[in-house]
Amino acid sequence: MKKRFNDWKNERSKYFNSWTNKQKEDTFFDLDKSEDNSTNSMLINVPKKNIREIKRQNNKKRKKDSFKNKQNKLNYAIELVNVTKKYISGKNDVTNVLIDLNLSIEKGDFVILFGKSGSGKSTLLNIMSGLDRPTKGHVIVADTNLPYLSNKELTKFRRNNIGFIFQQYHLLNNISGYENVETGAILNKDKKNKNDIVSMFQEFDLLDVIDKYPSQMSGGQQQRISIMRALAKNADIIFADEPTGALDKKTSKIVMELLRKINVEQFKTIIMVSHDPDIVKYAKRKILLNKGKIILDERIAE
Ligand code: ADP
Ligand code: MG
Repeated sequence: MKKRFNDWKNERSKYFNSWTNKQKEDTFFDLDKSEDNSTNSMLINVPKKNIREIKRQNNKKRKKDSFKNKQNKLNYAIELVNVTKKYISGKNDVTNVLIDLNLSIEKGDFVILFGKSGSGKSTLLNIMSGLDRPTKGHVIVADTNLPYLSNKELTKFRRNNIGFIFQQYHLLNNISGYENVETGAILNKDKKNKNDIVSMFQEFDLLDVIDKYPSQMSGGQQQRISIMRALAKNADIIFADEPTGALDKKTSKIVMELLRKINVEQFKTIIMVSHDPDIVKYAKRKILLNKGKIILDERIAE
């Protein structure tokens, strides 16, 4: 019994050391160095046995161990530790998409993920938001270590904690603007705190489309509706994948100003993907991804 306790203590302290000293050579997370140091984001040939293992890691909940109940450090919303993502791209081929990535995001931050197409931005966003699983590493969001959740639990986690804004809006086409926002409010776990939808339409300058269907709205209007839907859900963390990707400059500016406003006034943590350099100024922190690694991480002057 005593020995087991000591083993556990050892393991724990190793974990915390690796947590604070991320540069340290670290075999603790059982990373296959020879494989991970190979050419980034490229196809590599691996044995069948490894393919099976990667498939399992990518699709199934991780077996319970001492990290399952790991929570965020004080004031942090998201912490990634040694996150690796491999996709199976053929019978024996694997693509390394994220490579041993470490990242901590404070509550109330507004982060823009930049990088060339294929650098892993969407993959990273999907892993942080519980839409996808890492192959290895820890993804602790809202005090939950996500790889340890079952698919059903992940769905519940997203419903309770995460708001999404997509490039293609993803509105329901056969219901009105109001009702689309309402679908977010229905998911709001804290009913007392339900935002008043009509006043939101007023604030977003969209009263004239409140009863219209998405097909009767411009792209900018649809995107503002989808932001309202995310807000009505009252999630603390909002993820946005190229939310201005389909909008013109003027409309992008309106959308970015709104995101900035909800970040500052409602203290929402926002993580968004973009490749538009003009919108950096709306965020507080800029992270550049290249071939599955963070190559730049800096604060943006107010
Ligand atoms: P970005 O959003 O930066 O353009 P992605 O995260 O979408 O990049 O993709 C990164 C790399 O991962 C690309 O090489 C892409 O082809 C590959 N990839 C993404 N999703 C999958 C998948 N489901 N299966 C196999 N490869 C994928
Ligand atoms: Mg993408």
